[in-house]
Amino acid sequence: MERLQKVLAHDGVASRRQSEKLIMSGRVKVNGTVVTELGTKVGVHDQIMVDGVQVTSEAPTYVLLYKPRGVISTANDEKGRKTVVDLVAEVSQRIYPVGRLDYDTSGLLLLTNDGELANRLTHPKYEVEKTYVARVKGIPNNDAMRKLRQGITVDGETYAPAKSKVLSHDDKRKTAIIEVIIHEGKNHQVKKMLEAVGYPVEKLKREQYGFLTLKGLNAGEARNLKPEEVKELK
Ligand code: URA
Repeated sequence: MERLQKVLAHDGVASRRQSEKLIMSGRVKVNGTVVTELGTKVGVHDQIMVDGVQVTSEAPTYVLLYKPRGVISTANDEKGRKTVVDLVAEVSQRIYPVGRLDYDTSGLLLLTNDGELANRLTHPKYEVEKTYVARVKGIPNNDAMRKLRQGITVDGETYAPAKSKVLSHDDKRKTAIIEVIIHEGKNHQVKKMLEAVGYPVEKLKREQYGFLTLKGLNAGEARNLKPEEVKELK
């Protein structure tokens, strides 16, 4: 563990003295919480951000993970549950998930130490299309699908129109598999949208993130992005 101001100075953010000022003025967050105490100690797994941009002195690293269900999308979990960072433990850089997938959602998750790219990708303005495949209870009718495509408001939260289609349905079990493509990343968005139109999610998977797919990976496996993929994301 090192003192926060020492880490900031070491990682080239500012001089030790200026780093102290940054901390005291409330511009530094550790694991999502503003830290103003100068003596704060941080370790290699703590996420440090200055003005919302992640601090790193390490080589930029970009990992595509096929997140299984039952794993949490944060770097640390106070309940001690397995995290996506545990799944990429062989990566020596401090990398963090770009956005989140729910504990019980599987699928494509990017992890990186490139805070600037992560910020950009998670900004709705960039409109990265995320393709989800959901198994829902019931077989959605045309009206429900139209609502998803037109955009809906749930409890005061507005969700933009989502390209949505029924891929298949099981008349006996009364379930359907549907594809929903969104570019926002609001909390539990797909579940909330489907619940709102009357078809609660039983199982959810993110199949695609922009042009990136899960091709060649099994659940729990990860690979580094190719340089040309990183270029295309930027
Ligand atoms: N929408 C959800 O409801 N959950 C996820 O994990 C991702 C999108």
